[in-house]
Amino acid sequence: MALERTFSIIKPDATRRNLTGKINAKLEEAGLRIIAQKRIKMTKEQAGKFYEVHKDRPFYDELCEFMSSAPVVVQVLEGENAIAKNREVMGATNPADAAPGTIRAEFAESVGENSVHGSDAPETAAVEIAYFFSGIELVG
Ligand code: UDP
Ligand code: MG
Repeated sequence: MALERTFSIIKPDATRRNLTGKINAKLEEAGLRIIAQKRIKMTKEQAGKFYEVHKDRPFYDELCEFMSSAPVVVQVLEGENAIAKNREVMGATNPADAAPGTIRAEFAESVGENSVHGSDAPETAAVEIAYFFSGIELVG
């Protein structure tokens, strides 16, 4: 399979607890290369646009509040089968269901404050990468 790119966010619960390095180590140990990375603080509106697909879900407002509550680290990951591989190393959305050794099993605090975001398909990965990075910032 060809190299694939996916989009990742280290969420506010993790940056607050100084877990950026530990999460990056898990990603790299899984064979994912961090080809772009920056620390930003989103406005609630920016978070709202990013999570627009969830706008009718009951947790949407709380999610946008949380994602804009502290800095996040946005990243582009590259590797063989990167989208599925990242979802695997992240673990299930609810940390109670996440497999041992996954990022969410080890670090997530709750189903909402679950330490990382990862794209779920090639189409969403492309849109999410373009939301935060320009082509010139991507050096695989
Ligand atoms: N979320 C939440 N409550 C829920 C489901 C999701 O607060 O019941 C939040 C959580 O932060 C999750 C994000 O909304 O990571 C996006 O949800 P999605 O179902 O896309 O999960 P993910 O793809 O992040 O595993
Ligand atoms: Mg999702």
